[in-house]
Amino acid sequence: MNEDKIVLQVGIDDTDSPRAYCTTYATFRTVKEITSKYDVEFLDYPLLVRLNPNVPWKTRGNGANAMRLRINSSDLDGIKYTIAEMIKQNSDLDHERTDPTIVFVTTQKLHTIDSVRNFYIKALRDIVNLEEAFELSEKIGADIVFLKEGSNRGLVGALAALGALIPGDDFTYELLVYRKREKWGERRLVDEDSVKMMDKLTRPMTFNNYDYEEERVLITPRGPDPVLAGIRGEEPWALTNAVKLLRFGEQYEGWMIFRTNQGTDAHLPATSVKIKEIEQYKPIKLCGRISDNPIRIAGGHVVSKIADDSGEADIIVYEQGGKLRDVLMELREGDFIEVYGCAKTFGQSVTVNVEKLVVKTLVDVVMKMAPRCSTCNKRCKSKGRDQGYECEKCGRKMNGPEYVRIERDLDLGTYLPPPRSQRHLTKPLVRYGKEKSDFECVRLYEPWYSF
Ligand SMILES: [Zn+2]
Repeated sequence: MNEDKIVLQVGIDDTDSPRAYCTTYATFRTVKEITSKYDVEFLDYPLLVRLNPNVPWKTRGNGANAMRLRINSSDLDGIKYTIAEMIKQNSDLDHERTDPTIVFVTTQKLHTIDSVRNFYIKALRDIVNLEEAFELSEKIGADIVFLKEGSNRGLVGALAALGALIPGDDFTYELLVYRKREKWGERRLVDEDSVKMMDKLTRPMTFNNYDYEEERVLITPRGPDPVLAGIRGEEPWALTNAVKLLRFGEQYEGWMIFRTNQGTDAHLPATSVKIKEIEQYKPIKLCGRISDNPIRIAGGHVVSKIADDSGEADIIVYEQGGKLRDVLMELREGDFIEVYGCAKTFGQSVTVNVEKLVVKTLVDVVMKMAPRCSTCNKRCKSKGRDQGYECEKCGRKMNGPEYVRIERDLDLGTYLPPPRSQRHLTKPLVRYGKEKSDFECVRLYEPWYSF
């Protein structure tokens, strides 16, 4: 007999603290548990959803998880209970900054409710408040589980994650390898040469594995969390191939593939905002002209100014922006650019932290020079203000000055910070032209986990 099937969508957030755990690890353990206990069909990979990176109270990646499952309706209560237990066991409950929260939404068929989708977009590009999250949860009949008494802030990410990665959205994958518990907090043993080899053999199907500018492995995080390594890429098979190329100096617990909005620029708006309308903490796009030649300031940061018809803003590339600073340094007054980033306002003044820079047009830069002697071809010498020029060799008098066009040492195009300084959501240059919109929840590529 066919049991009644229903779709259960699960949003999870805020389980980890700076000192322990990772929400993806709680999800990994949860998937392991529910697949062993119940007849569960995954309609999608577990989702790793990054939200507005500029939210001031989030110091880590601001990532939530979601699962889209088809289950037997008779298992609903048992599965919900098991998920809550697993998330609870794998959260840093004692830390003041965690607020582990789970949101359950049950439907007959898999679809994303419009209002949940809108909520996700807002959580990605703006600031949402908790009241909105509560109102929406009630409106859609979501079942919320707060695993501890606290700020309930985890509801925002858990609910928003349910509106992410719908058909039409660009996406990537990340394969996360988890350490055995006894290794948490210890130095990660991943062979650097094997990372470089993996990078060379698998890119552009994987990306941001290694930063060649600073010779730094990027697939290993640095904190005390359970993640041993994370490989990002375009397709699940590329990631399962890539992980086999790595040499680990420690046994790992297992790995799982997440589908994610990382590396898609999902947080960046398509339309630009006027400088006078800039709001703090929102990712923005600005179009305008450089209005003051760039300078390098203490700390190695580079600042300049951009102006549109509504006002002027400072733009800054911090030291960690690496060579992006050199790009900004090459810009000159009048160059037309697009700037993507996050703005901070100080009274009337606005400073935009540059996350992506598109050089659209460059002005001609000319330098005033003494003319060349028409006989000897040597540069003449000025005889003083408004006195004209004279060749020092043959004495010929020349009119002048001459205006010489300086070759601009910069190409038009898109510039990003180096991989080590890119945000999770930043679309790396290697992904341009590889955007996908065709995900169909038909069949997951096997294997997508190893427990
Ligand atoms: Zn001469």
